[in-house]
Amino acid sequence: MSKDASAITTLYDRIVARNPGEPEFHQALHEVLETLTPVLARHPEYQRHNIIEHLCEPERQIIFRVPWQDDAGQIQINRGFRINFNSAIGPYKGGLRFHPAVTIGTMKFLAFEQTFKNALTGLPIGSGKGGADFDPKGKSDAEVMRFCQSFMTELYRHIGDSTDVPAGDIGVGTREIGYLFGQYKRITNRYESGVITGKSPGWGGTVIRKKATGYGVVYFAEAMLAMKETELCNKTCVVSGSGNVALYAIEKLHSIGARVIACSDSDGVIIDENGLDIKTLIQIKEQDRDRLTAYRDHHPHAEYIKNGNIWDIPCDVAFPCATQNELHEKDANKLIQQGCIAVCEGANMPCTPEAVAVFLDNQIAYGPGKAANAGGVASSALEMQHNATRHSGFEYSEERLYEIMNNIHRQCCQTAEEFGVPGNYVVGANIAGFRRVADAMLAFGVI
Ligand code: NAP
Repeated sequence: MSKDASAITTLYDRIVARNPGEPEFHQALHEVLETLTPVLARHPEYQRHNIIEHLCEPERQIIFRVPWQDDAGQIQINRGFRINFNSAIGPYKGGLRFHPAVTIGTMKFLAFEQTFKNALTGLPIGSGKGGADFDPKGKSDAEVMRFCQSFMTELYRHIGDSTDVPAGDIGVGTREIGYLFGQYKRITNRYESGVITGKSPGWGGTVIRKKATGYGVVYFAEAMLAMKETELCNKTCVVSGSGNVALYAIEKLHSIGARVIACSDSDGVIIDENGLDIKTLIQIKEQDRDRLTAYRDHHPHAEYIKNGNIWDIPCDVAFPCATQNELHEKDANKLIQQGCIAVCEGANMPCTPEAVAVFLDNQIAYGPGKAANAGGVASSALEMQHNATRHSGFEYSEERLYEIMNNIHRQCCQTAEEFGVPGNYVVGANIAGFRRVADAMLAFGVI
């Protein structure tokens, strides 16, 4: 083992020991650190200043109690989190996740990934993430509102348009952002739109934000396929999940002539060989807040498989857009056996390390989430700029998103090429993102 590789292994072991019981954070760390060895050889200054360890320790971690009252009058207690991971290139920026499986380790893995993702956008945004172990599923609107108000009653003192700017993630959409921003405004008596993104266009948001992550994933996949001298048009696709990212990935895929035949939620998979009807999906998920089983009420020819595995369905291109570690090694092998040529991640870390190794070993075009799903945070940064101008009617176009995604794709390709592994988007994304943050950290000294 080289001196640099051994330094990285020692460092990884030290960070894991300092953060016990956080397997998702360890996984995200491992995936990044194992690609950074050649960077140390070229940039001894990073090692001299211990930049990697510096970057792997969050600047601040906030954990707080969130008490709220349910409709039956019972007092419920949840745990809230906000991780201020890195502010070298801008204010902390990253979403809020409300899901019962949220732990400090989940938050840290997401905030760590966000560091590289935000750097890749080229925009002035640092990294953060937050949320709570609250499950919005099955809660009334009034319960969700009371929870959001209690959550913001603590969070408000830690955020600000130049400090930390949250947004949505799993379980946090436009409705929750509305309740959160409303409470912030009430407590502070300030109409500070730039304190949170993902707002509705009527009160400081942008039209493109809701669609940006899903559309961006498709633009990234198109760029990957162009490198293989093919295109998404006429390809059969499957998209896991049926939330914000999945819905707008499906919408964009259909609009460019691809055929999406399946999507999912945590209960099962819906398959429509004619191509999923996106209008029905949006109606079910955004308006009715219903489960995917309802799709068959509108399209009885579709098949619903309870507890089905979406990766068993043959496709040309797979888009994991639900959650972390949802696509395993056996799924990766099956996808390849059935003719899949590309995998592009809308979710954060949806493929296990073993699955990623299978894709890379088989020269499958594999787009890691930190590059492929950066369109959402990029458009959030544009929303912050829009809010800072206090200028209504200022709109960012899809063309700007397209440019940003293609620029991220280009950086990944050029960096992978520079480090001798052309076509390896994992190495390209990690190193390109790392260098931007590391150089700023070097400039600031020991802070
Ligand atoms: P969302 O709107 O809440 O949708 C999440 C979807 O994933 C739902 O269909 C949900 O099904 C499914 N899901 C969640 N947990 C699951 C689990 N444990 N097993 C199976 N399915 C599960 O969330 P989203 O905003 O689309 O986010 C999806 C992914 O994209 C996350 O990894 C998120 O971090 C990432 N991401 C989001 C954005 C953004 O702008 N929103 C940006 C970048 C990355 P159920 O309804 O059954 O739970």
